[in-house]
Amino acid sequence: MRVSKMYAPTLREVPSEAEIPSHQLLLRAGFMRKSTNGMYTLLPLAWRVIKKIENIIREEMDRKGAQEIMMPILQPAEIWQESGRWGAYGAEMIRLKDRHGHEYCLGPTHEEMVTTVVKSDVRSYRQLPLNLYQIQDKFRDERRPRFGLMRSRDFIMKDAYSFDRDEAGLDKSYEDMYDAYSRIFDRCGLIYRPVEADSGAIGGNGSHEFMVLADSGEAEIVYCSACEYAADIEKAELHVIEAPAEEAKAMEKVLTPNCKTIEDVCAYLKLPVEKSMKAVAFQSEKGLILCFVRGDHEVNEIKVVNTVGVTEVEMAEPELLAQAGTVGGYMGPVGLDPKKVIIVVDQSVMKMHNICCGANEEGYHFLNVNPGRDFTPAYVADIRLMAEGDPCPHCGAPVKKARGIEVGQVFKLFTKYSQAMKATFLDENGKEQPMVMGCYGIGVGRTMAAAVEQNNDKDGMIWPAAIAPYQVLVVPVNVKDAESNAKAEAIYNELLDAGLEVVIDDRKERPGVKFKDADLIGYPLRVVVGPKTLQTGELEVKIRKSGEVKMLPLNGDYVAAIKEIMQEL
Ligand code: ATP
Ligand code: MG
Repeated sequence: MRVSKMYAPTLREVPSEAEIPSHQLLLRAGFMRKSTNGMYTLLPLAWRVIKKIENIIREEMDRKGAQEIMMPILQPAEIWQESGRWGAYGAEMIRLKDRHGHEYCLGPTHEEMVTTVVKSDVRSYRQLPLNLYQIQDKFRDERRPRFGLMRSRDFIMKDAYSFDRDEAGLDKSYEDMYDAYSRIFDRCGLIYRPVEADSGAIGGNGSHEFMVLADSGEAEIVYCSACEYAADIEKAELHVIEAPAEEAKAMEKVLTPNCKTIEDVCAYLKLPVEKSMKAVAFQSEKGLILCFVRGDHEVNEIKVVNTVGVTEVEMAEPELLAQAGTVGGYMGPVGLDPKKVIIVVDQSVMKMHNICCGANEEGYHFLNVNPGRDFTPAYVADIRLMAEGDPCPHCGAPVKKARGIEVGQVFKLFTKYSQAMKATFLDENGKEQPMVMGCYGIGVGRTMAAAVEQNNDKDGMIWPAAIAPYQVLVVPVNVKDAESNAKAEAIYNELLDAGLEVVIDDRKERPGVKFKDADLIGYPLRVVVGPKTLQTGELEVKIRKSGEVKMLPLNGDYVAAIKEIMQEL
């Protein structure tokens, strides 16, 4: 490729909406252009990176015996009605009608479609296990598309689905995919962690997310400072904390004027905050949910959703609180009507004594509230958000927090879809059984963006060698100098012949401009050829990542040497 012909329009000014390095750099270096909110056209350089990532994915999926297919993007409403998700998927699903008025969606995922395909042809246990995957555009009308390819509305996903006879088979398929994912992200040159993820209503230890560690990541993860434990903060489990034993005292109502937060109340009453409980109110399809955790703890929304079995929660409106007989800032579990409110209490609150909490009346709190004696919750569960320094659930050492970009997820579906959609097979005894399924996704565009997020500096991108758009850039320093320019062209051709992916910057630009663009685009290797090269008989090769410069003798086998450097990157 010649830079003079390359369609990679660079930008001087980056649009202000690009907040994170990957979004800014991919726009600036001419890798992509926005078409509309949350949608991008991938230009040649980006498309080369995408294809490389896809090929790594393909090789590792195929190695595990998965088989590539291609399903339609447009999916009929019926199959989603069958699984029960046509309603449940909500506003993220892009829905449309054909000329006959039939309803469809643009696939946000393909569990329904693949289950429909497999159930029509697979009848016997002999046809299982099966793992089918595709690499295709997915559509999700995200509430807040942002960060470029990280959270877009049209994105490329590799999605795989496994079908097994039983749970032991699923365990093996899951392990295979976990292993394939680790190899894929290793090969892409990413620093990542597989973390235990929330598996929603399905429950069990059935999901891992692959998180690329980066400050701009939208996900929060906790990991142990001593052992291998790592989890999505939404999922991280906490043990019960037993407060020191105390004799139960008589409950008392006290005036707490202008104390809106639990910290205010404790300061006013001169109480340690660990003697108090804090309330968070949510509304849901099952009505008002009041959650209580120790004063210095935080509520984990996802755990609440899973405990109560609702699809989602949002902050409760004040009117709803009033209807239930309470008021923001003074909420407590004592004396509320269980028909009007679902009370969910953290397991550790149940082990506290003589607690201070809201009295459900503006300006008042209770002292010496005791669980069991003074209130009975609808649910007692672990609903706390893990914090930095909390003990690791596996070994007890303090955990740390980090931010991550979810590039992939593996998920045990068990028989959720096969039961709803009647995807069954006949086992060895001729008995009908539901297939046991798993699903496995990788965001291809997000992986590319995550690679930039993790590999950049003030000058631009630094592509990991395996996914770089090109491997080597040859820079003729002065194209007007016929002799050295001819040498540059010759080297370019030699490198091409050797099977390397090479670009030559044949523009009539100053070397400074060429070097700047080279750093911005992030070619792993830059080979400079100028009049000086011919004088000294040495070729300058610079490694983008380390900044290291190697001088290779022109009369030696520099092509082999460049190949070798490339291999070591
Ligand atoms: P998120 O929690 O980030 O919204 P998700 O858990 O809904 O993602 P999955 O259904 O697990 O996503 O999809 C599989 C993979 O597809 C994700 O791990 C991610 O890499 C990618 N992905 C999901 N949504 C988007 C998006 N809006 N833009 C780009 N990639 C996405
Ligand atoms: Mg996910």
